[in-house]
Amino acid sequence: MNHFEKYCTTFVQSVGSKEGAVSPAIINSASFAYATPETAEGIFDGSVKKPLYSRMGNPTSAKLENILAEMDGGVGAVATSSGMAATTLATTSLLACGNEIISIGGLFGGTYALFTETLTRFGVKTHFFDVDEFEAIENAINENTKIIFLESVGNPNMRLPDIKRVAQIANSAGVVFMVDNTITPMSIAPLKLGADIVVYSTTKIISGNASALGGCAVFRAINDGEDKFKTPRYKWMENFIKGAGKMALIANTKKRAMRDFGMSANANASYLTMLGLETLPLRMDRVIKSIEIIAKELDANGLNINHPCLTKHPHHERYLNDFKDGCGTLFTIDMETKERAYAFLSKSKLATLTANIGDSRTLALHMGSTIYRDFDEETKKFLGITDGLIRVSIGLENPQDIIEDFLAAAK
Ligand SMILES: *Cc1c(COP(=O)(O)O)cnc(C)c1O
Repeated sequence: MNHFEKYCTTFVQSVGSKEGAVSPAIINSASFAYATPETAEGIFDGSVKKPLYSRMGNPTSAKLENILAEMDGGVGAVATSSGMAATTLATTSLLACGNEIISIGGLFGGTYALFTETLTRFGVKTHFFDVDEFEAIENAINENTKIIFLESVGNPNMRLPDIKRVAQIANSAGVVFMVDNTITPMSIAPLKLGADIVVYSTTKIISGNASALGGCAVFRAINDGEDKFKTPRYKWMENFIKGAGKMALIANTKKRAMRDFGMSANANASYLTMLGLETLPLRMDRVIKSIEIIAKELDANGLNINHPCLTKHPHHERYLNDFKDGCGTLFTIDMETKERAYAFLSKSKLATLTANIGDSRTLALHMGSTIYRDFDEETKKFLGITDGLIRVSIGLENPQDIIEDFLAAAK
């Protein structure tokens, strides 16, 4: 039985109901009526578990949150309006002016901009490292470090992290370890590898068909005994742990970020995301098989492909050992010049040119002229953006059709 099989059972079983409407109800209400003043008081003090107001949580989104928390072995989750919202929510709930983030690996453009442009305006500094700079990462930790942030797969540099080793560094220093697992849901279970918080853009392969923008942050339970959240580094957590016990990270996130920033998920998007979840294991299974066939065949035919399934990739061993369920839907093609990249993209009949990834269709985009157009040369070099770089997200098409189309486009 492969790793996705158990999710084939749990996702369809938990999305559908056994009584009444099978498909999840879309609760399109911004506010919720409280039957009595006493109920209202109970809802506000947390003793009555009923919806308060949709900014603080919606029943349709709550269903999605429960399924994603279960997927990752978390104690709970908070759905958000986008993937960037999930990262903003999870990071800002732990940060204050003067704090620092350690960011590891090739970073999604929006996250890079959040760390370098936006959070800096609020006095938060981020140090950036390549996935293999273990010693430098350890040395960069100080008493102001609140988060070690990592992407499960470098997008678009395709470098793979040693998640367990980074978790060890974070856990022995008592610093929160947060993983953006957008590209590898189910394939990688960050909480089981030692992370504290996982963030997702559900817009990508979880929804899978460009129908809904969304995100989610999944949190681990606070431990009964020792816990990094009970140390002076996270001193304010004392109150949340007193009030919410093992659920304290959910309470912290809602009170210190969601309530005031309001990046809440809407019920319609959460519904569409759950429809995507039902088939996620099937789609993931197909793509991680197709992508190896396609990457190897294109590379053998002279295209410069970057994917860790290729023996030339510096993290090929890590791919074989730690990424047994694949590393998602992406590879890149380096066409050397912008002109050749444009020619390829114009000639391909199958690729849809868009900034999205993880779609049912194969997608492609020239990186330097789009997502990374505003980045300076040094940053582009760090993030692995070369002039001819095309990022491809493989879809559900027949792999042979994609190979033929791409080889014709590269001529
Ligand atoms: C797309 C993406 C995001 C941001 O998600 P949105 O839903 O577009 O806000 C964050 N991280 C990664 C790895 C992504 O691919």
